[in-house]
Amino acid sequence: MSNSVVIEDKTFYKYLDANELDHIVADIARRINQAYSGKGKVLLVSILDGSFIFMSDLVRKLSFPHEISFVKLASYDGMESTKQVAFLLDLKKEVHDQHVIVVEDIIDTGLTIEAFLEKLKTYNPLSISVCALLSKPEVHNDIIAVDFVGKEIPPEFIIGYGLDLNGQGRHLPDIYKLKV
Ligand code: 5GP
Repeated sequence: MSNSVVIEDKTFYKYLDANELDHIVADIARRINQAYSGKGKVLLVSILDGSFIFMSDLVRKLSFPHEISFVKLASYDGMESTKQVAFLLDLKKEVHDQHVIVVEDIIDTGLTIEAFLEKLKTYNPLSISVCALLSKPEVHNDIIAVDFVGKEIPPEFIIGYGLDLNGQGRHLPDIYKLKV
């Protein structure tokens, strides 16, 4: 793959290659395996669309029995103030006997995950933890407690490995950052 891609006249430079991503995912999986082995029923919930590739790589590195599910959220107008989200694809609510791990691609402001966690709590799972491939702590100021973070990055716009620019670029095996 080339060291740069152009999408919608914007140039992106390679930032994290597939090999590095594989190591990052393996390290998250190792920590999750340690924390959840023998813990009982576990459900991993992936927030679509961006986390679909991360989720599929992650679950193939987990060594304890678990179920998976997917949710898709859309923000209402004024999400910043209300933190309300519309569930385009919702979770089955019978999670009261399960430990839930929420799988997110990247945490930027943290508003999406925060809104989802509020709703998830009303379903009363045994426990909730958050796992994110990437996090931009300078943006969310660590307001969100992320239990398993792959890598902290500066507040730059990235694409690839599931992340898009207006629907494009999700298929790229490497992650690219916007040329500024
Ligand atoms: P947040 O609610 O934490 O601000 O961001 C939530 C979602 O915005 C992420 O799940 C992701 O889909 C998208 N997002 C955040 N940062 C980036 C980025 O750098 N690149 C892309 N393509 N999407 C991002």
